[in-house]
Amino acid sequence: MTKIIVAKFGGSSMADAVAMRRSANVALEHKANLVTVSATYGTTNNLIKLSKTALTSDWEACEVIVNEIIEKHHSIASDLGLTDLTELDKLLSEVKTISKGINLLRDCSAKAFDAIQSLGERMSSLLFTRALELAWEGNKTVSNFDIRKVLRTDDQFGKAQPIIKEIRSLCNEHLSKCKTGEEIYVTQGFIGQSEDGHTTTLGRGGSDYSAALIAEGLGADILQIWTDVAGIATTDPRIVPEAKLMSEITFSEAAELATFGAKILHPTTLTPALREGISVYVGSSYEPHATGTWIKGECSDAPLIRAMAIKKEQSLLTLSTPKMLHSHGFLYEIFKIFNQYKVSVDSITTSEISVSLTVEDSTLLNKKLITELETLATVKVEENLCLVSLIGNNINHTAGLAGQIFNALGDINVRMICLGASKHNFCFLVDASRAHEAVQKLHTHFIGE
Ligand code: ASP
Ligand code: MG
Repeated sequence: MTKIIVAKFGGSSMADAVAMRRSANVALEHKANLVTVSATYGTTNNLIKLSKTALTSDWEACEVIVNEIIEKHHSIASDLGLTDLTELDKLLSEVKTISKGINLLRDCSAKAFDAIQSLGERMSSLLFTRALELAWEGNKTVSNFDIRKVLRTDDQFGKAQPIIKEIRSLCNEHLSKCKTGEEIYVTQGFIGQSEDGHTTTLGRGGSDYSAALIAEGLGADILQIWTDVAGIATTDPRIVPEAKLMSEITFSEAAELATFGAKILHPTTLTPALREGISVYVGSSYEPHATGTWIKGECSDAPLIRAMAIKKEQSLLTLSTPKMLHSHGFLYEIFKIFNQYKVSVDSITTSEISVSLTVEDSTLLNKKLITELETLATVKVEENLCLVSLIGNNINHTAGLAGQIFNALGDINVRMICLGASKHNFCFLVDASRAHEAVQKLHTHFIGE
């Protein structure tokens, strides 16, 4: 039986008509049944900037951004020889109308913010449909599909949660034609729709996740993530130029890597793939013949340290109180508060009367959270930290590993360490000013030049 393939192209693969045509050829050559796209490069940022400008400035300032968005999309359309602009112009006028609404009311609800951001993907998918038609030379039907018909979510605007069961049955209902290979669908990443018909988004960088959810809904065999780097590297090559591309990595390692700061994949992408055993391939639409990286259940080797990452903008909260001494339920009380504010804690260590945990710096903007934690304990906050993590195998059972790490780090001061919870991860906090140096030293020691 032929394999069902979902391909996702990110913003840099949608940068202009040339990038789009190149990506369309990649989709054709790699036999995609359905293609999920991001907005054209920089457009989501521009739509966000537009919403913020509309809230605070005159319409003239907004119009500058609106015109930039119009020009960019018209210019790609013209380079692709798209003559019927009716659909595209409808969406462009939506950009204008929503931003005008925000500007007049000086109010941008979460619902309006998602609606305006969704236009980036809705527009790019129209353009990419045209690019695919050119690549297909009329040999196959290319359909632009509104993903909101199947990507059902809750109504947490800005970070909507998918409703998996419904997505699955809606995919069956609406997308079965692409399974036969007669028709190829082009659809939008990042966006969905709530039960009562409002447009939602899955959070920044959410297109990977969308593609994985659709792959799951379709029962696909392979999910291809096409980006601007030819696979997943042992660490960020901008920090360590010697970083190497990996030909394979396991789901568990890749999930740790994404969660702990590697920018290559949206951290939640792998959950649907893992649930359904879908193999994930990460490759570059600019170099489609390079090896790329396969993410699989099992790899041919299981190195102690396969990769490393940095998660920036971390804060360390240390909560101390003598009430913790020989008592119970304290962590429960603390996490109830984090839960109430929907704050995710990345790592944690505890001692008899204190608990230290890391959160993203931006969490601290919410002063109420800190005030509430202070009702339980004294709270010490340290900002400007980075979480450095080493990802590999059998990490929690390897004698002497911690010694090697600290030796390699030399005089870099380590704040908090987490070891033991996962066999795939060892992480610690360092001051932001020394994080790059820490990774460079560890990379030289564990992975080499
Ligand atoms: N366009 C959205 C963003 O820039 C989603 C994505 O590209 O994954 O965040
Ligand atoms: Mg992305």
